[in-house]
Amino acid sequence: MMPEAHFAFSLIIWNLLHRIGIASDYLSLFIVLGIGVGIDIDVIFVKPHRISFLHYPLTWIIVGLIFSFLSVEYTYMIIASSLGHFILDSIDWSVYWLAPFSMRNFGLKIQEKNSKLDPHSDKLVDFIKEYYKDMRMILIEMTLLIMVLMICII
Ligand SMILES: [Zn+2]
Repeated sequence: MMPEAHFAFSLIIWNLLHRIGIASDYLSLFIVLGIGVGIDIDVIFVKPHRISFLHYPLTWIIVGLIFSFLSVEYTYMIIASSLGHFILDSIDWSVYWLAPFSMRNFGLKIQEKNSKLDPHSDKLVDFIKEYYKDMRMILIEMTLLIMVLMICII
């Protein structure tokens, strides 16, 4: 998914955490948005970027557990925001949910099934162009944006 989808979904996650009393300040908002959107920073360094350790759910479970020494709220925020990222990434393509133990990818692969692009060799800009030509992706993004607006209003 694209950054705006991750941003919207992270805002939804933060709002839900906030409502149950876990995320209560601007730092928590920064953490949830930073992780939820920032995981894709690996696109700069690794090709295909979803094989990097930043896209391993286990990485964020470990990070969350490490931060539990400061506060268990950090653990919830880190794990919830990263899992939110991976859930969205599992819709368009797939995620290596069991990495590094297994490099089998799981997901709905809505785009991956019909894509002729190769994550090992094709350019990021080609993936972006393909993404925005797919009305299903646009529909999912619009749904997320509407959900964020509704949650912010309520
Ligand atoms: Zn991602």
